[in-house]
Amino acid sequence: MRTKPGHCARKRRFASEAAANDMAAIAQVTLRPYRCGLCRQWHLTSRTKGMKLPPFELARRKAAARDR
Ligand SMILES: [Zn+2]
Repeated sequence: MRTKPGHCARKRRFASEAAANDMAAIAQVTLRPYRCGLCRQWHLTSRTKGMKLPPFELARRKAAARDR
């Protein structure tokens, strides 16, 4: 994914994909970690359309379906 400089500066950075995933897992919306080509760290994006869902999101949806 191409990242715009301003976009990178405004976004929260994570040192690792695991750290980004931890944050995404507790967020209210579906977020997906991606590696930034500018800062070489990880950001989260809410654009998940057409993207493979991260493992925690699949688990979350499975749990929601089961609880219902
Ligand atoms: Zn960045």
